[in-house]
Amino acid sequence: MSSHSVLEGRGLKKSFGPTVALAGVDLTIHRGEAVAIMGPSGSGKSTLLHCLAGIMRPDSGEVHLLGDRIDTLGERRRSALRRTRFGFVFQFGQLLPELPAEENVALPLMLGDVSRRQAVLQARSWFGPLGLGGMEGRRPGELSGGQAQRVAIARALVTRPAVVFADEPTGALDQATGHDTMRILVEATKHNEASLVVVTHDPHVAGWCDRVVEVRDGFILTGPLPAQTSGQTSGWASGWASGWAQEGSR
Ligand code: ADP
Repeated sequence: MSSHSVLEGRGLKKSFGPTVALAGVDLTIHRGEAVAIMGPSGSGKSTLLHCLAGIMRPDSGEVHLLGDRIDTLGERRRSALRRTRFGFVFQFGQLLPELPAEENVALPLMLGDVSRRQAVLQARSWFGPLGLGGMEGRRPGELSGGQAQRVAIARALVTRPAVVFADEPTGALDQATGHDTMRILVEATKHNEASLVVVTHDPHVAGWCDRVVEVRDGFILTGPLPAQTSGQTSGWASGWASGWAQEGSR
């Protein structure tokens, strides 16, 4: 494992009955980088993400997080690992509708035995920088799609994970809101020194990432492709400092 490697999948294979979803994939995620996993529907992207994130066990191959093998851990330990070392952003936010936004963000901390009061205090500190100031008490149903995804981004980052996984994070948003959401996702993960793995079929989404990995029929097609667009994230540090994401999406 290279010294900058955070997460490494080696020889990953996974089948569902006769269907080969992963046919032997090697992929290394480096510290602080944003990687897009692209490919047509059914090519194995989600299966790869699920194996890397310890949601699913590969049939063979290994997954290492910061040098420690994680695919052989039992479900309880993988579940704890997902809660503490990984963050997740899904296509439809998957916030709990009955909880105010700040408690949705606080939830991963509370599940890790932080007191409710402390967890909510920490959760609140994410709202301003993510352009969500004043929305702490709103229920998910009272947020726009873009706002709800920012809450999901805060929830993914609140535990200071090593890696954030995002599966089509803008899939349910219009293009402008999706663009905003990707910018915030990339900037916030980089600001927090986490790596980002984004599954998408949208080249605009991939364009925000440092590197694109193409999956076809359970294989990785090519070596690392150069980032499709450069410079998009150059303002992230100053953006965070000045409270980016002001242009709230409604
Ligand atoms: P993608 O994310 O690129 O759309 P997936 O990883 O979801 O691809 O799926 C890869 C292949 O594995 C597809 O043929 C899909 O139908 C199959 N597959 C994925 N998950 C399951 C499952 N739980 N049961 C059966 N087949 C599955």
